[in-house]
Amino acid sequence: MFSRYTTELDSERPSFHNIFTVPSGGSFQSIKTRAIVEHHGDDSGAGRWTCSKDPRMPNCVHIHKARDTLQKYVLSDSRATDPKASTKSLIYNNSGR
Ligand SMILES: [Zn+2]
Repeated sequence: MFSRYTTELDSERPSFHNIFTVPSGGSFQSIKTRAIVEHHGDDSGAGRWTCSKDPRMPNCVHIHKARDTLQKYVLSDSRATDPKASTKSLIYNNSGR
């Protein structure tokens, strides 16, 4: 799921507040297992990403999924991904969990 709000503090640099609901753990369960990912920034994926489940982790798996979702939306391509997020996800996975 994906909700978008526009915050036009500066019309030359449009900024968005996006809210993503990302399933947690890969299994379909109740809403309580979902992570809420918020993005404040522009359509390139730049800006600040926060996750309700991992408040101290700037690039957790939920944010990775949300970044891909944003690119699917921006590019109108269901197979789009955010290459920057993929790179960071590898770092995240290699760091041990
Ligand atoms: Zn997370």
